[in-house]
Amino acid sequence: MKLETVIGLVMAEIDRAEKIHPVWPRNLIHAGMVVSEEQGELSKAILDHDEGKGSKRQMIIEAVHTAAMAIRFLKNIEETEENE
Ligand SMILES: [Mg+2]
Repeated sequence: MKLETVIGLVMAEIDRAEKIHPVWPRNLIHAGMVVSEEQGELSKAILDHDEGKGSKRQMIIEAVHTAAMAIRFLKNIEETEENE
């Protein structure tokens, strides 16, 4: 996949996600768990594909979700509150 395509998919997902869930968690652990949740879905998609039960398309979707949430994590990092 071309880098331009990857960036386009991730940017579109960030836009979509920010419309559906405009509020990003201020708590650092909650924010990190949003990224982890998507990474878990990516892991499942990869394992499903490996076992012949899933598609490459689903892996791409979940990888885009993971990248988009990692970027939202970074975009909002200055506003997150540390746990004390
Ligand atoms: Mg997902």
